[in-house]
Amino acid sequence: MKTILYLGAEVGAKAAEEVVANRAEVRRISADSEEVKAHIKTCAALLDASMKVRITDRMVESAVGLKIISCATTGSDHIDRQELDRRGIPVRTLMEDRELLLNLTPAAELSWALLMACARKLPAAVKHVVSGGWNREQFPGVMLNGRRIGIIGCGRIGTWMSRYARAFGMQIVGYDPLLTDYPPHIRPVSLEELSRTSDFITIHVPLTADTTGLFSKKHCEMVKPGAILINTSRGAVVDEQGLLSALQNNQMGAAGLDVLADEPDIQKSPLYQYARAHDNLIITPHCGGFSHDAVKVVCRRAAEKIIEHLDL
Ligand code: NAD
Repeated sequence: MKTILYLGAEVGAKAAEEVVANRAEVRRISADSEEVKAHIKTCAALLDASMKVRITDRMVESAVGLKIISCATTGSDHIDRQELDRRGIPVRTLMEDRELLLNLTPAAELSWALLMACARKLPAAVKHVVSGGWNREQFPGVMLNGRRIGIIGCGRIGTWMSRYARAFGMQIVGYDPLLTDYPPHIRPVSLEELSRTSDFITIHVPLTADTTGLFSKKHCEMVKPGAILINTSRGAVVDEQGLLSALQNNQMGAAGLDVLADEPDIQKSPLYQYARAHDNLIITPHCGGFSHDAVKVVCRRAAEKIIEHLDL
């Protein structure tokens, strides 16, 4: 029986097993390069839902029976291609599955949760009650109805954010120079106008050479006093020093981040250090896209591609 090596959460392995049934063995191993080296030699396919292990040309050389790598992720930068290309082994990713992706909402939902948590000072209010307090005057909220949200990157997640914002009665502007047709309800503006006039700014662009530092120190300095910034894209899209200064001098009212430039090595991050002592910066551990229901959907799709390719 052929073996499909699986890297990722257990819930995804179970979903893949359901698709594969008894046509192959799904072997889940821990996302560790030594483990991969040991097991890749005997597998016919790799289902990668983790992205934590670099799949090197060396590993592929040793994998004499490998016929396909199917990623349950959009990214595949962690996979060396030289040996795969030489042997004509395909690397399939969720980039091919636009329709399926469009309906996966956890990253947008976490972005909205961060926005609401910042607007209502939720973590601090909860901490206050747990420590015996009951004083609402310490926690004035920001009313969303009628406020302006600026969405940087109006693709899949940005579009979901615009839908949520509309339901909350907000004015919506967006900046996405690669789009000719903006999603309905988003009024295109320049990045400067968006930064100067939005009460909430939310970032949903891929990390590229063009987007590194896109929300620069200059943009952090020009926001409306008290503006709230949400970033669940990649840490390096925001000038972190600029954001820190804007939070320290109260230009920026609050920020909610699911990503940091140096994650997962966060101990030395000035933003992380700031968040430990201040309530107006909320950081979550890059968990936006991670929900068990979404993992099941993407692992099923990745497993289907393997079954088709191996003709099982
Ligand atoms: P998407 O490709 O659907 O949309 C990205 C949008 O950004 C596109 O419309 C594109 O035109 C736009 N864009 C590209 N360069 C730009 C620039 N220089 N200025 C302004 N806009 C620009 O991607 P998506 O699915 O919405 O995801 C966005 C990003 O969110 C991903 O690239 C990823 O980094 C991040 N993400 C994070 C999590 C998480 O767990 N926190 C989960 C999923 C995705």
